[in-house]
Amino acid sequence: MAHINSPAQIKKIMTENDLIFHKGLGQNFLFDEHYLSAIIDAGSISKDDTVIEIGPGLGVLTTRIAERAKKVYAIEIDTKIANVLKKITSDYNNIQIINEDVLKFDLNTLTNGQKNIKIIANLPYYITTPIIMKILEETININSIVIMIQKEVAQRLTAKANSKDYGAITLAVDYHADANIMFTVPAGAFIPPPKVESAVVKLNVLDKKRVDVSDEKLFFRIIKAAFGQRRKTLVNALSNSCPEFSKDLIKLSLSEICVQENIRGEALNIEAFSKICNFLQKNRGKKEFI
Ligand code: SAM
Repeated sequence: MAHINSPAQIKKIMTENDLIFHKGLGQNFLFDEHYLSAIIDAGSISKDDTVIEIGPGLGVLTTRIAERAKKVYAIEIDTKIANVLKKITSDYNNIQIINEDVLKFDLNTLTNGQKNIKIIANLPYYITTPIIMKILEETININSIVIMIQKEVAQRLTAKANSKDYGAITLAVDYHADANIMFTVPAGAFIPPPKVESAVVKLNVLDKKRVDVSDEKLFFRIIKAAFGQRRKTLVNALSNSCPEFSKDLIKLSLSEICVQENIRGEALNIEAFSKICNFLQKNRGKKEFI
């Protein structure tokens, strides 16, 4: 079947169906064949795979995914677009369009115990981070996620310690997955063109979380504190944000992992943060450290 791969085709569908591009919903539609194929290839989809697509728009990726996968669930928030998409994809018996806000939708109702679910999404940029965190934190059985996001966000997700892009979101993703930038995509590949450059990132979800932490909530509080005040030393940032731990105990947690007292959070990798968390949790409330 012929796929959509030109601005003219997209404009024609929009006009015929009385649709407008909703900027607020991140409706920048990809039309460039080269990048569409590259995204599908990055997904490594096979006939055994169930794929969840987030934000299918007019289905430029949806039909291409359906030709390689067993089943595609496409979750689209815009009711008018979802209805047009149902018509566009009516020849495919393995595509199901779900007219929902992905942030309010329980993805586990689709996976239903199945393993190796893949996610592919050209994400609306205004909610990239909440969508990624929702998928990683709430959805079991996800094998990989291929997402098109703003290039700056892609750099943050894949940053290394001690770089300006390294932050709490880098560690939150690193906890769940291996993240790699596959390629960048110029604004001219979309209609209308977005104001920013984009990048496609692949997250290969780990079978087991990257590090063992005794208290996940505390782990992420420590990370948030470290990067919320990134110019401060970790000792000062933590004693401000986590007052239940004395400065002495925080200093001791650093000497336990052989790092200097004046270290900043941005210099530490996820293993170091997990050790600090586990040490603080273990010694929480002990008399000698109060
Ligand atoms: N997949 C298409 C493509 O590659 O051209 C469209 C991508 S466009 C960047 C993002 C799509 O996500 C739009 O169709 C938009 O309506 C939809 N969208 C925005 N917010 C959403 C949400 N919260 N849940 C589901 N879909 C959403």
